[in-house]
Amino acid sequence: MNREQLAQEIIDTCLEMNALGLNQGTSGNVSARYKEGMLITPSGIPYKKLTPDMIVYVDKEGNYEAGKVPSSEWHFHLSCFAARPELNAVVHNHAVHSTAVSILNRNIPALHYMVAVTGTDHVPCLPYSTFGSQPLADSVANGIRESKAILMQHHGMIAMEVNLEKALWLANEVEVLANLYLKIAAVQSEIPTLPAQEMQVVLEKFKSYGLKSE
Ligand SMILES: [Zn+2]
Repeated sequence: MNREQLAQEIIDTCLEMNALGLNQGTSGNVSARYKEGMLITPSGIPYKKLTPDMIVYVDKEGNYEAGKVPSSEWHFHLSCFAARPELNAVVHNHAVHSTAVSILNRNIPALHYMVAVTGTDHVPCLPYSTFGSQPLADSVANGIRESKAILMQHHGMIAMEVNLEKALWLANEVEVLANLYLKIAAVQSEIPTLPAQEMQVVLEKFKSYGLKSE
């Protein structure tokens, strides 16, 4: 895929993220691995106005093209690509249910077998750090190594997958799980979960059957 095609795919992912209701205003951002760095959405431009030439290339040292400003959250996108070399796309947003769980500072436990889409048996919530900061990027690197989807306290969620289509699909699954979590937590304080042994069975099945995003 050439740069323009990948940039267009990033824009399409942003528009679909809006259509799914995952994004709040211009707070979400999307990136894809490209060459030795990444392509990422620019800072503060509504998705509808984006054209492929506005998507910003940031190299692995964090240098970006003159005349363009990447999303203020580019630091943690870059740390995701360094942390998981086998994954190629990052979707970040402040989806309401996921963000609500992050404010409660809770991990999403194995309340449904679909939690295994993260590659582990829970969605971890990382302790709060200021947006756009290096401490947040460092924390995200550790979190994303543990799970392909993470929550950031008082902030939102990150989903990382092999491609943009799957990353957006994962982000949507996490939002569904967060919605379930809140519904259950509203009824009783203790969240019923699947046994660890059963989650191992599901994780193994997900590995061998693979997940299709469409
Ligand atoms: Zn954010």
